[in-house]
Amino acid sequence: MTLSINPIPILSDNYAWLLRDSDSGAMAIVDPADEAPVMAAIEAEAGSGGRLALILLTHHHADHIAAADAVRARTGARIVGAAADQHRLPRLDQAVREGDVVSLGGSRANVIETSGHTRGHISFFFAQTPALFCGDTLFSLGCGRLLEGSAQEMHDSLVRISGLPDDTLICCGHEYTQANARFALAALPHNQALAAQARQIDQQRAEGLPTVPARLGAERSTNPFLLAPSLDEFTRLRSWKDGFR
Ligand code: ZN
Ligand code: FE
Repeated sequence: MTLSINPIPILSDNYAWLLRDSDSGAMAIVDPADEAPVMAAIEAEAGSGGRLALILLTHHHADHIAAADAVRARTGARIVGAAADQHRLPRLDQAVREGDVVSLGGSRANVIETSGHTRGHISFFFAQTPALFCGDTLFSLGCGRLLEGSAQEMHDSLVRISGLPDDTLICCGHEYTQANARFALAALPHNQALAAQARQIDQQRAEGLPTVPARLGAERSTNPFLLAPSLDEFTRLRSWKDGFR
């Protein structure tokens, strides 16, 4: 059972993610917010025998859901999103909650509630790969802003994500890594692994390459929000970063 995973750059700095279960050819798109590049990626994979089965939505913001209805209309794929957010998501074909399982061919994802950036934000964890599609909850070297949820909710979500296996691919919703690295270096000035990672990120961006997915094991030693030892420290870091330039 292999899941291939590709980031699709959309809008100014978002990623949709195209997944394909190798055995069945079943594909899923996570957070399709821009019809043209997403459909081009889907059609390229369809040319080699793939079929879009699922549209997975992490949260209700327009930069994650804007093209979901259009992609469904063009492909017949089913939209999966948070039951708690049904009133502000496109019509859901499968409304999910914590602990629910989503099937993509022979691959399975567990739904994890990860509130904080928004209330009702969810993430999809494919344990076999392992890969986490976490929208605007955890970013490489950063985390989402607290737009609806509390610091406590985001901290709880990050603690749960942090308990996943070291080799989990963190497939997040934005290319924010380079800016996050500047803040992380200010927060963790003596972290050598971070300094090395920041140099690599600069190189990747100079070449126009995505810096994601990141590995959770690396994030645990360089992401200041995962390293925060307490809720108080997390809260202090989050408000420091909100004003950081
Ligand atoms: Zn968002
Ligand atoms: Fe976003």
